[in-house]
Amino acid sequence: MSSNSSSNDQDPTGLLNASIRDLKTRLDRGDHSPMSLSAFFAERIERLDPALNSFISTQIPEIEQTELKGDLAGIPFAHKDIFCVQQGRTTCGSKMLADWHAPYSATVHEKLAAQGAVLLGKTNMDEFAMGSSNENSYFGAVSNPWDVNRVPGGSSGGSAAAVAARLVPFATGSDTGGSIRQPAAFCGVTGIKPTYGRVSRYGMIAYASSFDQAGVIAKTAEDCAVVLNQISGVDRRDSTSSPEPVVDFTADLEKPLSGLKIGVPKQWFSEALDNRVAEQVEAAIAELECAGGTRVEIDLPDADIALSAYYLLAPAEASSNLSRFDGVRFGYRCDNPQDITDLFERSRSEGFGPEVQRRILAGTYALSAGYYDAFYLRAQKARRLIAGHFEQALSQCDVIAGPVTPTVAFKKGEHSADPAQMYLQDLFTIPVNLAGLPGMSVPAGFVDGLPVGLQLIGRHFAEAQILNVAHQYQQRVDFHQRIPPGFGGEGFGGDEHNTGGAA
Ligand code: GLN
Repeated sequence: MSSNSSSNDQDPTGLLNASIRDLKTRLDRGDHSPMSLSAFFAERIERLDPALNSFISTQIPEIEQTELKGDLAGIPFAHKDIFCVQQGRTTCGSKMLADWHAPYSATVHEKLAAQGAVLLGKTNMDEFAMGSSNENSYFGAVSNPWDVNRVPGGSSGGSAAAVAARLVPFATGSDTGGSIRQPAAFCGVTGIKPTYGRVSRYGMIAYASSFDQAGVIAKTAEDCAVVLNQISGVDRRDSTSSPEPVVDFTADLEKPLSGLKIGVPKQWFSEALDNRVAEQVEAAIAELECAGGTRVEIDLPDADIALSAYYLLAPAEASSNLSRFDGVRFGYRCDNPQDITDLFERSRSEGFGPEVQRRILAGTYALSAGYYDAFYLRAQKARRLIAGHFEQALSQCDVIAGPVTPTVAFKKGEHSADPAQMYLQDLFTIPVNLAGLPGMSVPAGFVDGLPVGLQLIGRHFAEAQILNVAHQYQQRVDFHQRIPPGFGGEGFGGDEHNTGGAA
């Protein structure tokens, strides 16, 4: 049995591993003022982030008494820099938007701000959320706090690294093909991608609109539930947001797992999955069985087809979404254009990095007359097929449990030369986005000192159920409480310099 708020040698103040509810209690009791709590984390960012590069920009919190009402009053957090916030820059990890100031804030931001959460900064990310390693950022690669020579995953790598290093209690993320779950797995933190439509996309810069979904990265399932409670719900400014009533995602956390049917996709435990990762995931599933769950084998074939379909459909949508960055209306403009064509061409080829250009080209090609039926339409059919497989599987079980990633965090540069190898990272996450289902990554052990994630997938709008399973699991293990070496151990406002001490 673990307690999220206990202090120990690594965390003498108990603040690094404190849950959001615990931080709230401490604030309410007056143990800390909102300003001193924010200052504690802001100081950590300033001191420890140079070793990680997990932030693109930081803000000095201006806390007024009026802001301090609400369920998250005084709780510090960070946004993935894909969320528009009126104050400061919103870059989306791109040169194209390096100096852009959003004229409005995302619904997710407005909702968190209305509850009194305190924004400490914007986190690094792969440019326009395209990537699995955070090496595609105009603002430089992010390091994994568990080993600074390795990637934190992507595209929400900054958010995952920042939460893992305890620089903020929670951060937002977005998941189009795995960008919350994969970095959460690589960094040993908990991440949830809700059902498509559960959270408004308004003000979240678009990559592939029929997949994009905002979510949360935090230390625990309970913290994810607490934040999800605040950001969910229909929004008249996003017509794809769902009118499905928002339930209290914390209500079922304590429910015992007895009688729960856990579906394990046998095709996912193939040679594509590293053996040692498989062992940890199997052990986590066994733990869920000890907690009262029953294991059932299910079929989820064609993960490879899902990958091909995604890498056609997402670039197709991206090629349309990113057409707005033309050197005229938003962001970067080239110097001395000779004419309008030169302005378009040079602004886009100078403003976008190589991976973004690759996807715009692939997407434009797939949508072109003559190829549309052969590529785009077939990929849409594959998407439907995959969604059908999930429907079938989830009629035989309540939740699905399996791996998040085929391997643990890889070395920086390891897959840079080969986009196809990089795309394989998303083998187990992408199918979930094709079907629009909610999915989580939960810390489930280590291989050679590097975190492994357990993926939990639920039925549409059954976030409360996967959060329940994750929370029950986290009552039995302590992987989510481990702090990377070099990022814990100093006192409140302590002066010990120990940056980048990870192996
Ligand atoms: N890694 C995937 C990609 O590169 C997923 C990205 C995402 O979810 N935003 O597209």
